[in-house]
Amino acid sequence: MAGRHSKRPGLHVRIPEQSVSRPVGIVDSRTRVEHVVAGGVVAPHRLSYLAKCGAEILAASLTDPGRARCAQCAR
Ligand SMILES: [Zn+2]
Repeated sequence: MAGRHSKRPGLHVRIPEQSVSRPVGIVDSRTRVEHVVAGGVVAPHRLSYLAKCGAEILAASLTDPGRARCAQCAR
């Protein structure tokens, strides 16, 4: 059995991805409503995210607590 995993060493070593792997709440800077983002960045050049509810979010400052939470995302 020795040597069974010796082929192509290191080929499957991947750099950990920086994408969103778990749902995270992001406040939309336009409405200041917090949405849950599950899909990752839509348009990195303008910090736009796709929310769970389907809304496109323009990320506000991470220190902004927002004024409400999206009811659709909370489900
Ligand atoms: Zn939402």
